[in-house]
Amino acid sequence: MKVKIDLDLCESNQLCVSACPDVFKMSDDDELIILIEEPEESLRYDLEAAVNVCPRLALSIED
Ligand code: SF4
Repeated sequence: MKVKIDLDLCESNQLCVSACPDVFKMSDDDELIILIEEPEESLRYDLEAAVNVCPRLALSIED
């Protein structure tokens, strides 16, 4: 699976970082960074939680 982010929508509130810190991180200048673009299947649960918690609908998963 692949993680997609629309940075134009992201408001840097870190909710996805809390839900899935293995995949998401905030940079020093408050921009969201994807640490693993193609995460292992074992991260799917946390990743889906991150997608669902994003109030801006900025995240998606491609299978
Ligand atoms: S939860 Fe959404 S708006 Fe918040 S940092 Fe993550 S992608 Fe950006």
